[in-house]
Amino acid sequence: MFKRAGFIFNADNCINCKACEIACKNENQTPTGIQWRGVKKAAPELYLSISCNHCDSPECFRVCPERAFTKRKDGIVQIDEDLCTGCQLCISACPYHAPHFNPETRKVSKCQMCYPRQDIGMVPACIEACTTGALNLVDLNTFEDEQADRMIQGFPEITITCPSILFYPLKPRKRYFLQ
Ligand code: SF4
Ligand code: SF4
Repeated sequence: MFKRAGFIFNADNCINCKACEIACKNENQTPTGIQWRGVKKAAPELYLSISCNHCDSPECFRVCPERAFTKRKDGIVQIDEDLCTGCQLCISACPYHAPHFNPETRKVSKCQMCYPRQDIGMVPACIEACTTGALNLVDLNTFEDEQADRMIQGFPEITITCPSILFYPLKPRKRYFLQ
């Protein structure tokens, strides 16, 4: 089991195909308008695939008056929708816009890092779907690569929550995208 599960995103490999986004939606059957993972243009040739970052110091967890959030031993930040009263404090507190409010159920939901899949030895659906290898999962407690960075252009400030994600930057070369 991971000690601190985290995403690693290689911006140089992402072609904006949105397969990760679609796989997330399909796996979790999220309703229309609610997207736990999104691929966004951060700069002219830079796309970021971002979801909840299962932060080391999660603001959602800190502000929730119902204690609906828990952090598992492997680092995954879970939300128990049954405990959520829909106050949306977590949405205001999260720098990455990861929790989503459903006006029909009046509950908040977010990426759960596909923990039911991980618990049976599978990778999250977004990672399985990414054929270019842009998106992966690592144990941040043991992973070491000096080329991997905690920040990338277009990613919000990391000091408050310490998000569990690393980035490989773009390399200078001609790139082609699926628009
Ligand atoms: S599946 Fe991979 S290459 Fe496609 S948009 Fe997502 S991260 Fe980028
Ligand atoms: S990204 Fe937002 S919702 Fe996810 S753990 Fe961090 S603060 Fe909480």
